Amino acid sequence: QTVSQYLKNHIRTVPDWPAPGVQFRDITPLLQNPKVFRVLIDAFVHRYMDPALRPDVVAGLDARGFILGSVIAYELNVGFVPVRKKGKLPFTTVQETYELEYGSATVELHTDAVKPGDRVLLIDDLIATGGTMMAGKKLLEKLGAVVTEGAAIVDLPELGGSQKLIAAGLPLFTLLDFA
Ligand code: IMP
Repeated sequence: QTVSQYLKNHIRTVPDWPAPGVQFRDITPLLQNPKVFRVLIDAFVHRYMDPALRPDVVAGLDARGFILGSVIAYELNVGFVPVRKKGKLPFTTVQETYELEYGSATVELHTDAVKPGDRVLLIDDLIATGGTMMAGKKLLEKLGAVVTEGAAIVDLPELGGSQKLIAAGLPLFTLLDFA
């Protein structure tokens, strides 16, 4: 059995959440089981330990990107920075607003979170339309950092987000997808 299939078997699909017609891919069972959690984190750590891919900083997207990103950063012995939803960060921030299916969302990053030229790994649990990861990339670039790769557990390729991100020049690493 591949790592991808093993992890996929531990993702819970919740129908009609948070809205009718949505199949929510719930990653919490991956975190809950210590053996599975280790396989999950090691899949990322193994890749980013490679000196060619090792980032200077890991940035995590609110909120499940924090869970993954902080553990990966710790293992890589690099720092972790949070990209947060608007209104949560206390210090001066840069902001980026992006469109959702209904309305818009704003994300923020502390202005001293990264330095110009820093190589950043940007991580979240799942890529759907790609809007969240694109906003995170823009924030990091506003501060002069280079987002060397975007990573997630799950890609939903039919929504076109991963294609859009790759077309925008962001290499992606995802562990599995739901077609
Ligand atoms: P996007 O911006 O459309 O790519 O949506 C991705 C963001 O929404 C990520 O931060 C995900 O955590 C969250 N998200 C959207 N759909 C799901 C899902 O089915 N499971 C878990 N998270 C989701």
